[in-house]
Amino acid sequence: MSRLLLTMITLLPGLALGAALPVEKIAPGIYVHHGEHKDIDADYGGDICNISFVIGSKGVAVIDTGGSPVIGARLRQAIREVTALPILYVINTHVHPDHALGNAAFKQDHPVFVGHSKLSEAMAQRSGIYLQNQLVWVGADAAGTELIPPTLAVSTTHDLDLGGRTLSLTAYPVAHSPSDLTVFDTATRTLWTGDLLFIERTPSVDGDLLSWLQVIGQLREINSTRTVPGHGAVTDNGRAALDAEERYLSTLLSDVRSAIEQGHSMEQTIATAAQSEQGKWVLFNTTNRRNIARIFPMLEWE
Ligand SMILES: [Zn+2]
Repeated sequence: MSRLLLTMITLLPGLALGAALPVEKIAPGIYVHHGEHKDIDADYGGDICNISFVIGSKGVAVIDTGGSPVIGARLRQAIREVTALPILYVINTHVHPDHALGNAAFKQDHPVFVGHSKLSEAMAQRSGIYLQNQLVWVGADAAGTELIPPTLAVSTTHDLDLGGRTLSLTAYPVAHSPSDLTVFDTATRTLWTGDLLFIERTPSVDGDLLSWLQVIGQLREINSTRTVPGHGAVTDNGRAALDAEERYLSTLLSDVRSAIEQGHSMEQTIATAAQSEQGKWVLFNTTNRRNIARIFPMLEWE
């Protein structure tokens, strides 16, 4: 991409304001917008994950902002149709562009941006490639895109008081990504997992598969009545969803390990590993292939 285009991404003023995003009220004061299950690819549009907001008596917390400032602005519009309370916190569950590139839409609210203590570093490492790809991913909606690092970084746990409800944040070691953070609402026992949990959509590995399997065990211990995954439907049976994810990830792990033991190449392994999960997940072939390409070289050195 030319330097001019890169400059345009950062300098173009104003964001096209579209209609408010459709949101589902899943509990008192909790709203979720569900993106479509599309791969992050040319013209994917920036709207593929779950993005949410939570309203307390003092103000609002946003949980993920979508893949462009336009999606973020449309989420903000949806908030404004429900409440005039101030937007106090913008929480990013992890670094991925579909979850965090809408942050700029909330700068006008001067919120506290909240994320994992490793999120700033992950954003800095990836900003070049993300901003370069953003025009391809979302076209004109790339205008105004910024990676906005957290002003409140969480390395273990942290509580946010929204008034009448507390959001308890927990940071995890590298698992799905290097910057995974969960959010738990004490008033309704609702858990946001970010991409530590995928429902329907094939889980994608951008961190450490073995550590992710351990973190799944930790998530099972949380006594939640309702779980909002990073992608897919909200569920009141988070344990069953974690079981399905664990089944895919452990099948992937054992199939890739045994392919390596048998001396298979990565290309051969891509054709065979975790094929028993085919048909159980959306976007299976592209994501499973990418997962194998990522973990094969790591597991070769075990
Ligand atoms: Zn995601």
